[in-house]
Amino acid sequence: MSLYIVIEFPSSIDVGGNFMKCPYCGGWQSRVVDSRSLDEGVRRRRKCLACGSRFTTYERVQAHSIFVIKNDNRREEFNRGKLASGIRKACEKRPIPVGAVDKLIDNTEAELYRLGKLEFPSSLIGDMVMEGLKNLDHIAYIRFASVYRKFDDIGILKQEVDNLAGDSAEAASGQLSLLPSQLVDHSA
Ligand SMILES: [Zn+2]
Repeated sequence: MSLYIVIEFPSSIDVGGNFMKCPYCGGWQSRVVDSRSLDEGVRRRRKCLACGSRFTTYERVQAHSIFVIKNDNRREEFNRGKLASGIRKACEKRPIPVGAVDKLIDNTEAELYRLGKLEFPSSLIGDMVMEGLKNLDHIAYIRFASVYRKFDDIGILKQEVDNLAGDSAEAASGQLSLLPSQLVDHSA
């Protein structure tokens, strides 16, 4: 007899331990008599300590679903592909190593799982990405921010640019000179 077990990740449940309900007698203690790694998990043969029956369990790790709380309060399942495409779009044609972009995507996703919550406001995820982009490339940062924050008010965009310039005046001036001039409100 075989049982399929899906382990929620992160999880503190040690299903590799001895506590696994016996399908024959319902006893909770079993001994692992054989353990084998498979491509997508581990197969364990067990012997029930109560009735002596043998059964097999298959374990695989599955990240639990994370939901994103949209601005209108709708929930949407977190989609790594969507996050990645937003970040990649912002970084398009910028002198950023591909590895650094992948790392930012990985780190953002990993941080969400590390925080261990089931749902996150989209604004928090956006802020995490912006924080990462700020250190990578200011143009990518502004691009991402302008989509994500929907700079309706050109004054807010200017303020964001000014903040960047203030953060690292020298590095910023080189990058910001590439900003289309109409994006910056010189009259303010
Ligand atoms: Zn049993």
